[in-house]
Amino acid sequence: MKKRETKPYPKNFEEFLDWFSTDDQCIKYLFTIKWPNGFVCPRCEGNDYWETKRKLYHCISCNKQTSITAGTVFEDSRKSLRLWFHVAWVMMAQKTGVSAKNLSELMGLGVIRRHGVGLPSIEV
Ligand SMILES: [Zn+2]
Repeated sequence: MKKRETKPYPKNFEEFLDWFSTDDQCIKYLFTIKWPNGFVCPRCEGNDYWETKRKLYHCISCNKQTSITAGTVFEDSRKSLRLWFHVAWVMMAQKTGVSAKNLSELMGLGVIRRHGVGLPSIEV
């Protein structure tokens, strides 16, 4: 088993709002969870990529395009990431308190989906 580094996470809600005030910030955060040592292509493990206009990561070696949200709870969502982060934060804070571990699991690994707990639907 490879040891995973603990990711930094916001200490309180104020900091949370600061960190994740735009979708780009959310994407950057997801990126560091998914690829802590930089981009790795899921097909060929290549490290060189360019980013498409649709925020997909295009592998230069094998041309596979992968999304930062592939395989996570955010994958099928058309809502903004910012909104999901907000909901996730509130849920985690209510349930267990937010820790680096459960927040990064929630964001990166789709814990909600695996455990069959649906996020509340939100009208925007
Ligand atoms: Zn590749």
